[in-house]
Amino acid sequence: MSTRRETVRQALNESTGFRSAQDLYADLRSEGSKIGLTTVYRALQALSDSGEIDVLRTDDGEAVYRACITDTHHHHLVCRTCGKAVEVEGPQVERWADAVGAQHGFTDITHTVEVFGTCAACASGE
Ligand SMILES: [Zn+2]
Ligand SMILES: [Zn+2]
Ligand SMILES: [Zn+2]
Repeated sequence: MSTRRETVRQALNESTGFRSAQDLYADLRSEGSKIGLTTVYRALQALSDSGEIDVLRTDDGEAVYRACITDTHHHHLVCRTCGKAVEVEGPQVERWADAVGAQHGFTDITHTVEVFGTCAACASGE
């Protein structure tokens, strides 16, 4: 199982954008892997549980995954057409989240903010 997990992690490392379980499964199969779709799902779940990969929901509600370049807190700017992702920082968002939490007496504040759009390449039809 840990080898399978490595295989899936490796496949994610090689992609530049967010990939769904189906995408990764198709990639691995086309490379000749005998991995099953359920195994891909389980490996992705295990990797996201341990914080090794990022998971987010697209506008369509599909879960997509990515091995992040940075392991510190950050946000993503995601192209909804090709899945390309840019890692961005949002100091204003950090301050706003802490402030709004404190205002309502909340502690241990965390947040997930992803920004979706169409990347320059997709917008120009390349
Ligand atoms: Zn990231
Ligand atoms: Zn794009
Ligand atoms: Zn943040």
